[in-house]
Amino acid sequence: MKTKQNMKTDVLGMPAPQTECADRKCPFHGEINVKTELFNGKVVKKDINRSATIEWFRPHYVQKYERHEIRRSRLRVHNPRCINANIGDTVIAARTRPLSKTIHHVIVKVETKP
Ligand SMILES: [Zn+2]
Repeated sequence: MKTKQNMKTDVLGMPAPQTECADRKCPFHGEINVKTELFNGKVVKKDINRSATIEWFRPHYVQKYERHEIRRSRLRVHNPRCINANIGDTVIAARTRPLSKTIHHVIVKVETKP
């Protein structure tokens, strides 16, 4: 039997935050489901409308010079009220359904604060 639960205790092993929220786009208290596709990044921008931008750096090998260069990846993510990550925080974001034109991911955990 399948029952609709209002609140999940965890998402992909990430425990739900202490505070509750009325955000429909929250993976813990809302209606969205997340996929097992995770991204680690640092919050570099935060908007008033519960959105954020995360970025991370990765080495990319350049064969001609036999050296690595640093490449940057950026991702627009949803930042639920109950998580409320701030600029500088290292977070884990998970893929979900498209939440807006540019946002298809949601923050599920704040790993470290600056
Ligand atoms: Zn929430």
